[in-house]
Amino acid sequence: MKHKQYIIPIFVPHLGCPNDCVFCNQKSISGQMKDIAVKDVVKTVETFLSNFKDKKAKTEIAFFGGSFTGIDEALQIKLLEVANKYIKDGKVDSIRISTRPDYIDKTILKRLKKYHVKTIELGVQSSNDYILKKAGRGHNFEDVKRASKLIRRYGFNLGHQMMVGLPESNKLDELNTAKDLIKLKPKMIRIYPVLVLKNTKLEKEYYSGEYEPLSIEQAVERCKELVYMFSKKRIDIIRIGLQNTDIITEPGKEESEVIAGPYHPAFGELVMDGIWYDNIVEKIKKVNVKVKEVEIEVNPQNINNVVGHKKINTTKLKEMYNVDIKIKGNSKIKLGKFNLKILKTYLD
Ligand code: SF4
Repeated sequence: MKHKQYIIPIFVPHLGCPNDCVFCNQKSISGQMKDIAVKDVVKTVETFLSNFKDKKAKTEIAFFGGSFTGIDEALQIKLLEVANKYIKDGKVDSIRISTRPDYIDKTILKRLKKYHVKTIELGVQSSNDYILKKAGRGHNFEDVKRASKLIRRYGFNLGHQMMVGLPESNKLDELNTAKDLIKLKPKMIRIYPVLVLKNTKLEKEYYSGEYEPLSIEQAVERCKELVYMFSKKRIDIIRIGLQNTDIITEPGKEESEVIAGPYHPAFGELVMDGIWYDNIVEKIKKVNVKVKEVEIEVNPQNINNVVGHKKINTTKLKEMYNVDIKIKGNSKIKLGKFNLKILKTYLD
């Protein structure tokens, strides 16, 4: 039996970050204002460990925040030492960090290796240098290529993060980014639609009308295409959409840092449900008669995907194609697969 993997997330804000990414309000994303202290890390790890139920599950400490190797070196080492101690004690299995492509070199990788870091995620955002410049990233795609190759050569798992809906980026640019990333052979990918956060450059561009965010529907459509591409190459899609927190929440709520953009509490689910919908419609369209009622047999774990968030899929199938759906759970069916049986056609 395959055991699950637990993640212990530690947010490491890059308070003195010299870069100026238009979408970034580091404090909003990491959900905290002050620099991180070692004692807080220990407390977080201990709390998570004591709450994990499956004692045989793999456990990973993940330093999120985007610029781990850009923070003060002494602090990096202190944090890695703490995490590494849990590995030595057999309480944690691996360490993951996320950082920028221009904060990767041989010295940095040797240090990460020494402390048993297993996975390095790079914030790529786009493979188009013009879009990277417009986003104020301060690095180009050549940096991404160089860093990705180096990370793989040193034997780390490589992860990429890309964005959808950056200023002046269109669907084609994003498909090209996916193509370019696939060539670099990442093991995993995160896809983030751009949200307009408070106290960012993008906020000003949004209010001046210079930047128009994607709607939820547009962002879902664009992400679906990317998911198809990465899945075909068996690259793990580990996240679609920013994690909900107390402050990354519905725009308009008092505590929300989100001003506009395709925010949805279950954004990733919308994308995956949309993919299920497309696949079901494709199969129905292959039938040569007008279909009235179908039975879809799926693994019980996928029933919600067939129905869709707030029944969006079954409702849409009825509205668009006048098709009724019966869903049958069958644990023998592989996850992600389904059988479709026509129960009634309009000729019956
Ligand atoms: S996203 Fe850009 S501005 Fe924000 S912390 Fe990372 S590098 Fe700095």
